[in-house]
Amino acid sequence: MHTFMATHPPAFNGPAPLGETDTRFLLQAIAWACTARARGNHPFGAVIAEADGTLLAETHCTTTESGGPTGHAEMNALRQFSRKVSPETHAHATLYISAEPCVMCSTAIFWRDLGREVYGIDTPWLRSFYSPASFDVT
Ligand SMILES: [Zn+2]
Repeated sequence: MHTFMATHPPAFNGPAPLGETDTRFLLQAIAWACTARARGNHPFGAVIAEADGTLLAETHCTTTESGGPTGHAEMNALRQFSRKVSPETHAHATLYISAEPCVMCSTAIFWRDLGREVYGIDTPWLRSFYSPASFDVT
């Protein structure tokens, strides 16, 4: 008799401590969120970097200025990143995001096989900035 033991998802042991490089790139993602806001978009930014600190992509949300509903910061960063690097690089890269990714972006991040992600603000905190009516999906 064989026993199958699932290996995915990996055990979650809580948030990992952030290093100086993580803090620098997270602040850079937040700066891109400010750029997005200044250009009339939703205030989200994203940066992708290798473990050694090499910058691979940086951008912001463009949904308003482009009129494209998939122009989230994470999606734009993944588009830049995917053109530049081999699939092997994906596993060693970190995506820094100003806010926790939505379902669309989470799925794209999963299929890109990125090594890790670091975000600034989680969804409950983000929602606290909006009125409850704006999230009524009934
Ligand atoms: Zn998204």
